[in-house]
Amino acid sequence: MLKTISGFDRIGEENAFAVLARASQLANEGMDIINLGIGQPDFSTPEHIVEAAIKALKDGHHGYTPANGTLECREAVARRTLTMTGAEVSPDNIMIMPGGKVTMFAAILMFGEPGAEILYPDPGFPIYRSMIEYTGATPIPVPILEENNFAFSAEETLSLINENTRLLIINSPANPCGGVTPKSEIDKLVKGLEKWPNVAIMSDEIYDVMTYDGETHQSLLAYPEIRDRLIILNGWSKTWAMTGWRMGWSIWPEPLYNNVRKLAVNAWSCVNAPSQMAGIAAIDGPQDDVDKMMQAFDNRRKLVVEKMNAIPNITCATPKGAFYAFPNISNTGWKAKDLASQLLEKTGVATIGGPDFGILGEGYIRLSYANSEENIERAIERIRAFLE
Ligand code: PLP
Repeated sequence: MLKTISGFDRIGEENAFAVLARASQLANEGMDIINLGIGQPDFSTPEHIVEAAIKALKDGHHGYTPANGTLECREAVARRTLTMTGAEVSPDNIMIMPGGKVTMFAAILMFGEPGAEILYPDPGFPIYRSMIEYTGATPIPVPILEENNFAFSAEETLSLINENTRLLIINSPANPCGGVTPKSEIDKLVKGLEKWPNVAIMSDEIYDVMTYDGETHQSLLAYPEIRDRLIILNGWSKTWAMTGWRMGWSIWPEPLYNNVRKLAVNAWSCVNAPSQMAGIAAIDGPQDDVDKMMQAFDNRRKLVVEKMNAIPNITCATPKGAFYAFPNISNTGWKAKDLASQLLEKTGVATIGGPDFGILGEGYIRLSYANSEENIERAIERIRAFLE
């Protein structure tokens, strides 16, 4: 029998992809499916970005680029970082990655090993825990609670750090709960981290433009005192509706940069040149489409909250960021995953059960409001009718 290393027994998955596959199967069988499961904007990539990629292909950009990305693309990311966060970052610290996910893969691989502890948000993006377990490190969940507006608590996070902690993963605005952690809390976290100079921090800021109701995103780049141990995960997928392009970037402190560059040389060589040119167009071009998308998300967010709260036994907190709502279904009598599965099988509405994002997700389901207002209304009406 073939024997692979034990890490592969521990590696997990993202159930959103399994739900997507099942939803497509049911749709092929003729069922009318409304997908509130998958976390990707339902908008097309803006036209000028697509045109930039087509032009790059026509102009003959068909070969390898440097493993860390073209200088032009890294310079574009540096410009965008300066405008968004006020932080000056050298293109020499920026890596162009094949998607946002690959940065967490690389960072966790760099710090995870048996005996090491890695802190990650629960509920949180499922790949954090999956990759931590793959490396043999111990995953330490940081609770993300509704009573704390789904923000992380600096005090609680700091209380979980010890001499074995190698990496702290934070995410704001957050998937799956839609929480935005306020600046005051991040100030406290950074202050407390002074005591733990050997702990690296990976801040997943992929939803950085996606905040509502006047909330603002606080980048960890604003704190020079932790820059020498800070990894920033970001990318094009969500902001410019480019999930399928596989375009991400990360910012690394100097001592780690060569590791990730070598990982690229060993694994993916580089991101394809036309996508990098499209990435530059996304950053430097007009942002009207982003603004329009955010306005649509905001309207849908209000609709989801209003309609979900009108269902007996369900309460839905108003999300402040990203494009997810995380309604509390604990008073319906359903286990979250059973409810999500039955909603799909019986009503054609795809959602994700909270436990797919961590143990503290029990009692919740995640609704992605990356769908039209009409479909959101139809979906929530089906959920209401099913629960009655
Ligand atoms: N980080 C978070 C919090 C996400 O929700 C996602 C995607 O859903 C990613 C990272 C990965 O993004 P990408 O599709 O660019 O790999």
